[in-house]
Amino acid sequence: MVFQNEGIKELLRNTRVLWALSHAMALLSWDAETYMPKNGVGERSLAMGELSVLSQKILLDKKIVSLVDKLGGEEGLNDYENGVIRVLKRDIKMMKALPPELVRDLAQTTQEARPMWRQAKDKNNFNIFKPYLEKIIELEKKVAEYLGYKEHPYDALLDYYEEGLKTRDVDDMFTKLEPEIRKIMDDIFMKGYYPRKHELEETKYDVDEMRCLNKKMLEILGYPFDTARIDESAHPFTIHMGIKDVRITTRYEGYDFKRSLFSTIHEFGHALYELQIDESLKTTPIGTGVSLGIHESQSRFWENMIGRSMEFAEAIHPIIKKYLPFTSKYSYEELYKYFNTVKPSFIRTEADEVTYNIHILLRYRLEKLLVAGEIKVSEVPELWDEETENLLGIRPKTHSEGVLQDIHWSQGSIGYFPTYTIGNIVSAQIRYYISNDLASFYNDISNLEFNSIKNYLREKIHRWGSAYEPKMLLKKSFGESMNAKYFIEYLKDKYL
Ligand code: MG
Repeated sequence: MVFQNEGIKELLRNTRVLWALSHAMALLSWDAETYMPKNGVGERSLAMGELSVLSQKILLDKKIVSLVDKLGGEEGLNDYENGVIRVLKRDIKMMKALPPELVRDLAQTTQEARPMWRQAKDKNNFNIFKPYLEKIIELEKKVAEYLGYKEHPYDALLDYYEEGLKTRDVDDMFTKLEPEIRKIMDDIFMKGYYPRKHELEETKYDVDEMRCLNKKMLEILGYPFDTARIDESAHPFTIHMGIKDVRITTRYEGYDFKRSLFSTIHEFGHALYELQIDESLKTTPIGTGVSLGIHESQSRFWENMIGRSMEFAEAIHPIIKKYLPFTSKYSYEELYKYFNTVKPSFIRTEADEVTYNIHILLRYRLEKLLVAGEIKVSEVPELWDEETENLLGIRPKTHSEGVLQDIHWSQGSIGYFPTYTIGNIVSAQIRYYISNDLASFYNDISNLEFNSIKNYLREKIHRWGSAYEPKMLLKKSFGESMNAKYFIEYLKDKYL
């Protein structure tokens, strides 16, 4: 038995209703992005707002808070039990700090902001979104003040998404990464093996054929269709109702099939994390992935380390030719090149793995300035374009391909972007360790045989849920915390 302490067992009986609420809210969110009729959004937003406040109220119930206080001082708890206390303490601290009016205001503002952002993006007009972003930034500043921080207000927002992460850590991360990425980019262009463009990027596909290919790909990866689903949405995502009900979505642009294919493989990586959590953690506060950064390391591992490898391209070549007949004239090497075109581009989600983190750096710089009150929202579009030019050497011609491209700010997700870079770094770190520990790693990919890889990830990352905080989990599993050198080495190895 994972949970033995009687006090912990009592606590878990009391928190189960919180799990039930999040179970229900996950289903409502999934539905809102997939099948809900368009006009349902108003009532759904109200319902979600009320449920958020209800969940805050239940969490702050005297019984739960006093049990957590009491058990927090207790010795002899095992790692899982300590994990439960750590997670609940953190949640209680946050929810205690935030006044319910702020929680509601933020929920409502972001619900209103999302369609306005979409409209602004469609019409290429930042001014439509501007007042909403101004309000969101003001609210986020309040959140930072209520949550508290030692060095930088942005610390409070970072920690919300990635437990323990500081602005200082992100600065260090980018100081190391940026010049290296820049050098690697220059070398790639000089060598010329990896093309900037590929004609398949403009080639149309039949959506039904592509759906079948994605389904086949998930079967090959071992996606359990009796426990997990795939549907379609404007922005691909993964959501879980529990360990036995995990759902991913993908999208179909109708051309450039790698986008749909790699979205599907990416979300598979997220789903696998939730699916391989130790079943005895179900319904508890630690029965889910530990942080956005660790989660993204799983999706990027499958998408890039496996999906964009030469071994994988060669192995799936016959399958792709079968499902998408227009690809039959391309060799597997050609397919590999198509999967790995490298170029400075405007859109983050379409960026290659070399330039991707530069997109994150841009957002990180702007968010930090906004939260510190050093720039105004009205200055952001111009700064966005300038920084893109500084960092990538290209200047967006429209706001839609610049400052308005991402959904995150309209959802109030400030401090979220850096977790993408953490995911990229950690995915390369995992690749280093797995290819050392698992002699059959590359052969397994060539044979499309993924059980050993999945077992490895289960043991090192998945099964623990949120029992250990992200830094501790990496230390425990690999003997060191996050280290950007593996990512840089990976890029050099692959591209130079
Ligand atoms: Mg992701």
